[in-house]
Amino acid sequence: MTVNKAIDGMRNATDSYGENVFSIKAMRNYLSDSAFKSLKATIREGKMLDASIADDVAEAMKTWAIEKGATHFTHWFQPLTGATAEKHDSFVVPDRDGGVIMQFSGKELIKGEPDASSFPSGGLRATFEARGYTAWDPTSPAFIKESKNAAVLCVPTVFYSYTGEALDKKVPLLRSIDALSSQICRVAKLFDIENTGAKPSVQLGPEQEYFLVDRKYFEKRPDLIQTGRTLFGLRSAKDQQMSDHYFGPIKRRVTEFMCELDKEMWRLGVPAKTRHNEVCPGQFELAPIFEELNLAIDHNMIMMEVMQDIAEKHGLVCLLHEKPFTSVNGSGKHNNWSVSGPDGKNWLKPGDSPHENAKFLTVLCAVIKGVDTHAPLLRASVASAGNDHRLGGHEAPPAIMSIFLGEQLNDIVRDLENGDGKASKKRDTIEIGVSPLPPLPKDTTDRNRTSPLAYTGNKFEFRAVGSSQNSSGPNVVMNTIVAEALDEICTKVETDIAGGKDLNESLQLVLRDIVKKHKRVLFDGDNYKTDWTTEAEKRGLPNLRKTPEALKALLTPEAGALFEKYGVLTKRELASRYEVYQTIYDETIAIESRCSLMIARTMIAPVALAYQGELADIIKNVERIDNEDMLDVRELLSGVRKESSELLKGIKKLQKYVDDGASDKAIDAMTELRAAADALEGMLPKSDWPMPSYGEMMFML
Ligand code: ADP
Ligand code: MG
Repeated sequence: MTVNKAIDGMRNATDSYGENVFSIKAMRNYLSDSAFKSLKATIREGKMLDASIADDVAEAMKTWAIEKGATHFTHWFQPLTGATAEKHDSFVVPDRDGGVIMQFSGKELIKGEPDASSFPSGGLRATFEARGYTAWDPTSPAFIKESKNAAVLCVPTVFYSYTGEALDKKVPLLRSIDALSSQICRVAKLFDIENTGAKPSVQLGPEQEYFLVDRKYFEKRPDLIQTGRTLFGLRSAKDQQMSDHYFGPIKRRVTEFMCELDKEMWRLGVPAKTRHNEVCPGQFELAPIFEELNLAIDHNMIMMEVMQDIAEKHGLVCLLHEKPFTSVNGSGKHNNWSVSGPDGKNWLKPGDSPHENAKFLTVLCAVIKGVDTHAPLLRASVASAGNDHRLGGHEAPPAIMSIFLGEQLNDIVRDLENGDGKASKKRDTIEIGVSPLPPLPKDTTDRNRTSPLAYTGNKFEFRAVGSSQNSSGPNVVMNTIVAEALDEICTKVETDIAGGKDLNESLQLVLRDIVKKHKRVLFDGDNYKTDWTTEAEKRGLPNLRKTPEALKALLTPEAGALFEKYGVLTKRELASRYEVYQTIYDETIAIESRCSLMIARTMIAPVALAYQGELADIIKNVERIDNEDMLDVRELLSGVRKESSELLKGIKKLQKYVDDGASDKAIDAMTELRAAADALEGMLPKSDWPMPSYGEMMFML
């Protein structure tokens, strides 16, 4: 019985995998041979899209979608809000005889024109010049979003303005992938690396963390509803102290949620792979198998949306905020990043031939150089009000960007630094392109969970990304800074070779110089310790603690020059990102402040005052009957009075900063206000407290 059930489960998964995706497999059945070949070349090899097949593709997509029950289509895109956007149009067009035909033209597939004026553009668009366009991204397949009585064909698109400027997160991402790919090709040529016809690409495996809470609790928390995090809440006696939730047995209700989520992911062609309990009770993770970066990000955006949707079906709410609960772990999205070349191989995996060796060390050094040179940019790419609660909170890496390499790789890098560029015979000197690397254990045992950017055997894991973020930003930065570093390496080596130098000798010197200059960014110790903050300061590494500080990196001339040089973002586009992200930050703080005030005034203060009245009555009544002085109750009353008075003072203070629009001061005032409220939660009768407790939200699933 059970075995049969398991087999059914497997069959279900394999049969329905990608069912709701207009995949290459589906295309073959719905497209003419020639259109199919042409589109496949665009998708697989990055060939220019042949506009003449657009009508055929649209017709095929429509037929497929209608068979799946779709009535509408939408261009699906990723504006600077960080969310996704869609506007549905039906396929229905009335014919002249009182009936309808179902229509979807090539023009409608390729280009859309949403009103751009209501999306944040950071000054790129004024409301009176609303023109914005969406354009089909054929490299990410169309899919069907399904709910009970609706199915919509979603066409992944880029979003740009009338002037051609990028208004979204996908355009710069695609440009940055191109920039890095070109440099990878250049390195491949220089090293005479085999070209198997594979398109160089960047891979991403984003590990998505999230919380679940019961919907009945969520509904009683205006802070969760409006801000995604709890603005008040006394720490529960037990939460994550025992480390008994991490990888613990998954509760039945949660397993059922996860199973449905996985199935839905598979139907959408998202390769959901690993699921488990995370550190904090109520916290979980879902990791997919890594994919090509652009697709992986679309898939992650879909995943975040479906998670919330499925949770609702199970009477749960999925919280993607970076810090839903204070004092316990927040949620991140580990960004596993690697690069592959025209040889179709992962270049971040050390190999055993001289060529593999050289390309691996070159990319490694490029990462070191890029991260050290542009650490503030990398930091800025993960800056948000939510992530500020997490970074440096002894559960996530600090705001100081550094790289963990592990012992073996550090030895190799040290050898590289000490080598003199001559073809030395000394065993412990690395000779690029001459000797193979010592085999690196695939799963390095000395894992370091505290480092923002850790090398993990075949990829770099950037751990500072927040759980709710669209991870395009950090990947745009990674791609571009590594492209720049590779560009400089290639230029140097090409010049040397033209001057008669040997490739190995030149490369050895170039990489040696990089290690010498940038090794300060390498750190294998405990990044949570305050010693590291001091040490990092000595090394001159920036420590941009909060978002407003961090975002300023987008305005520096270096950032402008970098993104412009590699065609990723113009200075105007970059400045617009600064504007938008800073505004989102300020608005987030303002919303949290107003929500804090509302809860403190209308929910907490009334019960605190009422309780004082009750205590006063008790004292009065008992003293009348019994000549006792009621000292202990008086003490309790004075405690409640003290915290209530702090609460009222806190309200006044926070209101002032809200009126002044002073974000940083408002944050501190919210913390003070919260301290008084949380103290009251610890004193007032549970039955009077207007909101569910931390314990209930974390454990009652
Ligand atoms: P770890 O436990 O070291 O974090 P996993 O093997 O569990 O590593 O992988 C974590 C994530 O990294 C998964 O999404 C996985 O698919 C992804 N990943 C594995 N190899 C690569 C790679 N070469 N490039 C990008 N992502 C990768
Ligand atoms: Mg990991």
